[in-house]
Amino acid sequence: MPQYTVHTSWLFDPKLKSARQNVSVTVNTVSGLIERVYERESADATLQPGDIDLRGKYVLPGLVDAHTHVFLHSYDEAGALKQKRDESMTERIVRAVNHCRTALLAGYTTYRDLGSEGMQECDASLRDAIARGLTPGPRLFVATRVLASTGAFECRTENAGGGHCLPASADAVDGPAECRQAVRRRIAAGADVIKFFADYRRRIMRSPPAVQHPYKASVLHPPAEPNPDYLVFDDEEMRMIVAEAALARCPVAAHCCTLEGALAAVEAGANTIEHVYFVSDELFTRMAEKRVVFVPTLAVAEKLHSARFRSAILPQTKRAFDLGVRLACGGDTGTYRHGDNVRELELMIEAGIPAADVLEACTVGGWESCGGDLCGRRFGWFEEGLQADIIAVEQDPTTVTGALRDISFVMKDATVWKLDGNPQGMV
Ligand SMILES: [Zn+2]
Repeated sequence: MPQYTVHTSWLFDPKLKSARQNVSVTVNTVSGLIERVYERESADATLQPGDIDLRGKYVLPGLVDAHTHVFLHSYDEAGALKQKRDESMTERIVRAVNHCRTALLAGYTTYRDLGSEGMQECDASLRDAIARGLTPGPRLFVATRVLASTGAFECRTENAGGGHCLPASADAVDGPAECRQAVRRRIAAGADVIKFFADYRRRIMRSPPAVQHPYKASVLHPPAEPNPDYLVFDDEEMRMIVAEAALARCPVAAHCCTLEGALAAVEAGANTIEHVYFVSDELFTRMAEKRVVFVPTLAVAEKLHSARFRSAILPQTKRAFDLGVRLACGGDTGTYRHGDNVRELELMIEAGIPAADVLEACTVGGWESCGGDLCGRRFGWFEEGLQADIIAVEQDPTTVTGALRDISFVMKDATVWKLDGNPQGMV
């Protein structure tokens, strides 16, 4: 029988932002979809052969990490430049396969992977390999190579011989015409989402953020900010990227660290804004008006921007929430360990955002960050026709910190990958 039913006693409904009692969900292993969601009259359930009993557990939709890099592993082990320079493509692919398995077992059934970090279009190939059942992992939505202007997002060293001897991280383009071409090239190469850099550190760097020489000190030198972020595209270029992506019904993510970059990207029509560590109420008001999704990437900021993290970055994330900005949960996972994805949720809760809203941001918000219906699938809540992505934990995730670190059950597309805490089908 391709259909079977999952019986629950506590099921988090992101649309209601609260739990429902005694709900059963019938799924189909052929389509991978939810066929029926219904409430039982009592806690009792009649189990048919093949049914799964999750009564007594806390059940949620599969989680969505809205900002990942499957081809990066923790910067605590090696910085991005070192990974790109010193690790073979084979090693990076093997690592990515492991990252995907780990993420799935951690309850993440969808990854929006925002840039292959020197691995060209391998993210699209990995997405397809997972979709074909060759290896377990989240459903991937990928960007392939990011768009940036010449020299803006590359491994820059003083010893590059005048060119780039290291793997190119970006599809480097200048001027509206090249931006248009690059979007077309990315979509043809398999991108599900276009990612562009609105700003970046543009000076030579060895291992960001440690940069530049210890020159002799003098007036204004060394500067307080040795390698600040500056715009890398102008308004016309950003607008062209968004307009061209819109022709192919493709969502656009914008990396922005500066207020200037974020304002420009929002006005250009980007669907999601990543990072933004310098903000204003004007920016958030505009994002709320245009329903732009904010992915604050708190988990990477906690490490790379620790000086301002608790004093500025956490409070401004709460401010975005209070002003009605649409949030999604993506920690820039990969810069820290795949499997620790829920750190992003923990930090959002620490910022003062209610746990139920954070869970909604990590499910429905994640789907919206993938473009909503533009991504061609629906997932992140419980309804007929949605992808059958279901996870369960042992404690109430709306009240117990750390509950999501102990994943008991994982189903993706109606296939069970974890049962009673044990991986399934991964021999
Ligand atoms: Zn990133």
